[in-house]
Amino acid sequence: MRAMAKYTLPDLRYDYGALEPHISGKIMQLHHDKHHAAYVAGANKAVEGLEEARAKNDFTRIAALEKQLGFHLSGHVMHSLFWQNLAPQKGGEPTGELATQITTDFGSFAGFKAQFTNAAMTIMGSGWAALTWDPVTKRLLTTQIHDHQSENTMGTVPLMVLDAWEHAFYLQYLNDKAKFFEAAWNLWNWDDIAPRFAQAKKLDLGLIKAADSQ
Ligand code: MN
Repeated sequence: MRAMAKYTLPDLRYDYGALEPHISGKIMQLHHDKHHAAYVAGANKAVEGLEEARAKNDFTRIAALEKQLGFHLSGHVMHSLFWQNLAPQKGGEPTGELATQITTDFGSFAGFKAQFTNAAMTIMGSGWAALTWDPVTKRLLTTQIHDHQSENTMGTVPLMVLDAWEHAFYLQYLNDKAKFFEAAWNLWNWDDIAPRFAQAKKLDLGLIKAADSQ
């Protein structure tokens, strides 16, 4: 039997303090080393639990294990994306095909920015805002994700994600999350997000007549 692949915590590609003043080094350190690490451990534990259940042919805990897997693996993927979506001295607006697609699907970059930020602002409890590619209609959407995985839209590919959990900003911004979301616009790394868009556009879900092209 093949040895089971493990989820691992990726290193940040910049120093903890590199995103200051927009995100403090202390937040980045705790967020990456503690929170993200816990999701990695939780995802591995859930997969091990499923393996054990199979080995014992005892699936009494499977619903709880699947719930854990959904939460922790999604947390791992979302944080891995978030770290790469951000970079020091970035921000501004994308260029090229991504810029064109944003204008097509949101009317303007300002329209996209307002929609994305409002998706983040209005999350009830903990969650994320995401810019996703919808391969069914071949357009960009924003989604509001509860926790790390709920109210997600199946089939869409996350390109750009914003952590709206309190642990992402509270040490620095306290209850003023609007300020944190605004600060993030100084950090979006379009050199990371645009290639994700180019890659996602190649995805074909193989659904026949699931959308009408206008
Ligand atoms: Mn987080």
